[in-house]
Amino acid sequence: MLDQHPTSSNGPPARALVLFGPPGSGKGTQAKLLMQCLGIPQISTGDMLREHIQAGDTLGREISDRMHSGVLVADEMVNALVEERLAQPDCARGFILDGYPRTRQQAEQLCRWLIAHGIDELVIHLLVDYNSLITRLTGRRQCPSCGTLYNLYSKPPKNDEVCDLDGTKLVIRADDSATVIQERLDAYRHQTQPLIEYFREKRRRLLEIEAGSEPPQELVRKICRAIGDDARG
Ligand code: AMP
Repeated sequence: MLDQHPTSSNGPPARALVLFGPPGSGKGTQAKLLMQCLGIPQISTGDMLREHIQAGDTLGREISDRMHSGVLVADEMVNALVEERLAQPDCARGFILDGYPRTRQQAEQLCRWLIAHGIDELVIHLLVDYNSLITRLTGRRQCPSCGTLYNLYSKPPKNDEVCDLDGTKLVIRADDSATVIQERLDAYRHQTQPLIEYFREKRRRLLEIEAGSEPPQELVRKICRAIGDDARG
């Protein structure tokens, strides 16, 4: 699989953007905004895994308990999903990784893949203080019918806890309950945060961006400017 990537032969060189940060730091929102402004796909391992659970397939049944309790899914499963996704033609001009890598083994696998395909990587570390993370995570609500995401603090629905689009009562996502939030933050602290040291050791390009206070649209402009400055060297 390693040598099958259809790397683009014209246009700017393909680039891997890694959005890195704790649960609640806004990786998903920023990845979607960046996807719109850069025209390269968002690859969210959380979304890919949830799709398998939704489909009720073999992988979905195997990972469901772990995901719903906030612990990480096995590296080999996630690595295989990502490798398959990166081989798709829409990744040829670059891609935005959201929620991957999350362990040293995943980071090593990605590093080998990028080197084998001659693709540069830029890690964008979203910095958000602990209290803001807790506020964001506990305020998250989702419409069970159409999937629209809200936040009671930063993006509240117009009417008390019902979806603006279809009026369905909003729910708390299973992995946003208080104990699961704690588990997800622990997994981040013990398994994922240490990757910052790994990126530094390996001299990966790393941008640190304060992401705690600005509205998403302003933050994405700041990130785009930083990406542009980095590309100009
Ligand atoms: P997310 O939507 O990125 O917050 O991910 C939700 C859950 O999916 C996590 O709590 C993990 O159980 C699982 N997950 C997502 N990405 C990964 C990954 N790269 N490695 C292991 N588990 C993951």
